Amino acid sequence: MDHVDPRRLIPRTNDLLALPAVREARSRLSEPVVRDLVRDAQEKARRGDIAPGQVEPAVLAAVAARSATTLRPVLNATGVIVHTNLGRAPLSAAAVDALVAASGYVDVELNLADGRRSRRGAGARAALLAACPAAEDALVVNNGAAALVLATTALAAGREVVVSRGELVEIGAGFRLPDLIESTGAVLHEVGTTNRTHLRDYADALGPATGCVLKVHPSNFRVEGFTSAVGLEELKSLTAADGIPLVADLGSGLLAPDPHLPHEPDAATALASGADVVIASGDKLLGGPQAGLLLGRRDIIERLSRHPLARAVRADKLSLAALEATVAGGAPPVVQALHADIGTLQRRTERLAAALGVPVVAHAGRVGGGGAPGFALPGWALRLPEGLAGLLRTGDPAVLPRVHSGSCLLDLRCVPEGDDDRILEAVRKALAALGAADAGAAG
Ligand SMILES: *Cc1c(COP(=O)(O)O)cnc(C)c1O
Repeated sequence: MDHVDPRRLIPRTNDLLALPAVREARSRLSEPVVRDLVRDAQEKARRGDIAPGQVEPAVLAAVAARSATTLRPVLNATGVIVHTNLGRAPLSAAAVDALVAASGYVDVELNLADGRRSRRGAGARAALLAACPAAEDALVVNNGAAALVLATTALAAGREVVVSRGELVEIGAGFRLPDLIESTGAVLHEVGTTNRTHLRDYADALGPATGCVLKVHPSNFRVEGFTSAVGLEELKSLTAADGIPLVADLGSGLLAPDPHLPHEPDAATALASGADVVIASGDKLLGGPQAGLLLGRRDIIERLSRHPLARAVRADKLSLAALEATVAGGAPPVVQALHADIGTLQRRTERLAAALGVPVVAHAGRVGGGGAPGFALPGWALRLPEGLAGLLRTGDPAVLPRVHSGSCLLDLRCVPEGDDDRILEAVRKALAALGAADAGAAG
């Protein structure tokens, strides 16, 4: 008998596309995505990685596993609450409901009572003003950086932004506030030194060219030792007389003081201290969606909202919906993680440790995401072999641990209690895989 090239037995594309499960998947996946999955399985067979008879099951498995998004939910076991690489703040149930409700047609810019166009995001604005009565008005834009660009463009393009040298920070991933500000056409007028800036430094700098004075909270580092900075009250005493806008970039997004974070600035205090406008992020300590908040004096917020750039940085309806629900709803996950009861954390950690037969160690959580630098949140972690980290990250569910001095640590602070058993299962699977790999290496 002639030898048949097994590659000729590979099922044809059209036959694979006609399989009922594949046809059904074409309602949730695009045509090119489905075709790629089919081609991948055929390629594997052509390379001899799988037998021709395995192509159909491989296509069915690939189609079932593939969703329209490649983003994967991750259980955050790092103890870092606002984890930028994990999308910062997880949304509250109220915020998720709100963004699902807003995902269709929605009255984001329409008054249903009279059928006329209305101010965009009026609900989010009202919620922010109710939560921060010190603000006369509020504007929501795409993110904190956009809020800063809008404020400096509208108030100081072609003029000067007076700012302390100690506050020209890099906010992460190589983005630097001074570059951002200069990109608007404003000129930075730096005053003082890295560690010390005095009121007279600002006083010497102010003049006809001043567009605004900017105070930036150094949110992701701490300078200690021989330092001095000028507070908003003192700055206000300088700027008020000439009507120079005083802008405070707080970063963190606290609307009111949090006794847990005594050194973290908040919008209400900054406004009461004299800031004309405060800038904050929606997805840091506020615990909401990515957004930039501008809160403060009515005339200045009005000026910013009328600037052409405001249209380029406007918030989308989903963010506006989620932001309003974050502010008006119950404590979001970020706030819950921040205030987590240490006894409860211990009990949860010990239960998993007993089930797995691994030790519990003291472990400090962090606020993260450029908030409360150096501030430790006392807590606990399961200590596992370092080799488990990669298996946990790539497992199902994906679990991100903290790898530290030769151990893989799992801190439950940012894990919803209802997910403890999923962590347990994930660790069991990873331990089994590690054991199998070790046995394979030994054998
Ligand atoms: C985080 C931060 C920003 C940038 O805000 P995004 O929402 O990330 O764009 C700006 N300034 C300060 C002080 C920050 O902490």
